[in-house]
Amino acid sequence: MRIPFGGHHFKDRAVMFKAEAFDELVEKIRDFRIANGIKIGNPEEEILIYYAKNWPWLVEENPEQQITKENPRYDKWRDFIFAMKKTPIRKYANDREIRTRYETCEKCKFRKKVTPRDKDEFEALKQKVFVFCRGSMVCGMDQFCDLHQAPIPVLLAPETTKDLLPPKDGNGSADCWIKSVP
Ligand code: SF4
Repeated sequence: MRIPFGGHHFKDRAVMFKAEAFDELVEKIRDFRIANGIKIGNPEEEILIYYAKNWPWLVEENPEQQITKENPRYDKWRDFIFAMKKTPIRKYANDREIRTRYETCEKCKFRKKVTPRDKDEFEALKQKVFVFCRGSMVCGMDQFCDLHQAPIPVLLAPETTKDLLPPKDGNGSADCWIKSVP
């Protein structure tokens, strides 16, 4: 790729990033977003759009370019984790209670694993879940409840679930432990 006027650069949230090479610039934006708990999105595409708008002769359309695959479960998992800051857990359930709850989840058809879209973001978000749940390790940080649309460790951790959850399930999982939690 040819170099845009002023060298490779991109402004993200009022911070101007510069780099010698395009890939280096993409890496810088990704690292910045991960370090600051910002959704990664698609920095490569964003930079290319910026270049295309300002220096259209720099960017060529590539019909063989891989289109980002849909991964709605990952998106919901990620969005939930980003929203967690607004709803901190006030009181935690004790370990025994958490383990008992998880015994039900383990057998439940709504328990799923999240497939990462971006490996680095995935690791950073799992770390957030781990911290949010105070390191409760009864299950992997990548487990997700398709019924309640929330990460399972986050559902398991609080004494009460009403601050964190969408409405209790009335239709899907007759055996869900959440029904018996105030
Ligand atoms: S529906 Fe209830 S029991 Fe099933 S995975 Fe979700 S939280 Fe666990």
